[in-house]
Order: sequence, then C-alpha cells, then structure tokens
Amino acid sequence: MIKISNLNKYFGSLHVLKDINLNVDESEVVVLIGASGSGKSTLLRCINFLEYPQSGKIEIDKEVIDPEKTNLNLIRQKVGMVFQHFNLFPHKSVIENIIEAPIHVKGISKDEAMTIGRDLLDKVGLPDKEQAYPTQLSGGQKQRVAIARALAMHPKAMLFDEPTSALDTELVGEVLQVMKDLAKDGMTMVVVTHEMGFAREMADRVVVMDEGMIIEEGPSEKIFTNPNEERTKDFLSKIF
Ligand code: ADP
Ligand code: MG
Repeated sequence: MIKISNLNKYFGSLHVLKDINLNVDESEVVVLIGASGSGKSTLLRCINFLEYPQSGKIEIDKEVIDPEKTNLNLIRQKVGMVFQHFNLFPHKSVIENIIEAPIHVKGISKDEAMTIGRDLLDKVGLPDKEQAYPTQLSGGQKQRVAIARALAMHPKAMLFDEPTSALDTELVGEVLQVMKDLAKDGMTMVVVTHEMGFAREMADRVVVMDEGMIIEEGPSEKIFTNPNEERTKDFLSKIF
C-alpha cells in the first residue's frame, strides 16, 4: 500500500531522514517509535507530501508519487492524517468540520456528506455532538472528531502522529479504542505513539527510528523485550 525507497529529507543542511526504506502492506498496522527529533513526524509528513523529500521514491496504492506531476489533493484523499493537536477548524461545528473536505475537495453533495458524517460520528462514539463546536469538546472528543474528519475522505491509509500525547491520561483510552476499531476493520495504519499497550495489541510491526534512520524493526514482543540495538534499549528504558 505504501512503499518508501531511499528517502532523504533535509531542512537546510540538517539531514533529517537518511535513506529510509519502509513498506506498509494493505491492512497492516505499523507503529513507529523513537526519540524526540529522530524524524518520525517528518517521515509521516513526507508520506502525504506536507513535506517534500529531496530524493527517494514514494509509492502509494501502486502509484509512484511525483509531487511535480501528481495532484497532491488526490494523495491526501488516499492518505488521511491525524495530528497531536487535532487541527480542527475552531469556527466550524463538528459536522461542518467533517463535511468540509468531502464537499469542497471531492465535490459530493451536502446531503451525501451529512450522511457520511453522521455515520462516522456514530462510529467514533459522538452521535450527539454534531452541532457542538470544538471548544465545547474534551481533547479526547476533539481527537475522535479529527479521526472522523480524516475518514470522511475514505482514505486507503491513515497516518497518526502522537494522537494521544496531548490528552489527559483518562482520555487516552477512548481515542485508542477508535484506532483499534479502525485497525480491526482492516485500515492500513502508520502510528507514531509511545502507547506500548496499543503497540503490543495492534501493531503488526514496530519500526524504531534514531537520528533520521530506521535502526530496526520487528514484532512488538521482540522489539520491546529483546531488541537487537543498544539504542533501542536506551530509548525504551527512558520511556518505561
Ligand atoms: P520527531 O517527530 O521524531 O520528534 P521530527 O520529524 O519532528 O522528529 O524532527 C526531526 C528533525 O528535523 C529535528 O531535528 C527537528 O528539529 C527538525 N525539523 C523538523 N521540522 C523542521 C522544520 N520545519 N524546519 C527545520 N527543521 C525541522
Ligand atoms: Mg514528532
């Protein structure tokens, strides 16, 4: 579903992604971990071209993406992204947040978008929040709306960048539950998170980054209990 080959990304002279190779199969859940500054967010942002890599190849759903030639709105329809800080439109209601892109980017009718939006609000457990505004919601609820908004575009894959790390502890579970339901439905997912419970339960593969490189990958059990790399051990000892 997602194939990344020899990807390099620089910010000025700072080499933040160094020859990254990563394949994510259809319906696979990949959890990406690594120290702050190791390049996790930049990698996700390159996958849906919020950042442009300087070299390398990104293939999504069997199509090689050339940002010069490919309509990036189409890519972003195929790959949804959820951020740490929700990024909802504050002046729009929950349902307006969700139907905005389907109407304006995909060109579907408002009625159809409303039907899709209501179904998704049911799915994320917020059927009664359609008319609420983001400021009236808890962080966990905002994040569930953000997930519904991304799903409204019918993406083929979803990227999550630390979706629960801005939340109060008691709200983390409700967001992880929505993500687990999505994974069980067969969504292809790349998730940056330090929620090891989620990784243990849901990840088909854990990928470890350090200083812009993928230093190892494997099943969660192996990575968490018996990693090959000293740097992985260091990192895990700091977060546990
Ligand atoms: P992580 O998500 O693993 O914490 P990031 O991908 O955010 O790491 O950052 C990787 C490196 O790139 C860091 O050194 C960070 O300071 C740098 N970086 C990230 N975004 C920018 C940017 N827009 N401009 C310059 N440097 C950046
Ligand atoms: Mg980050």
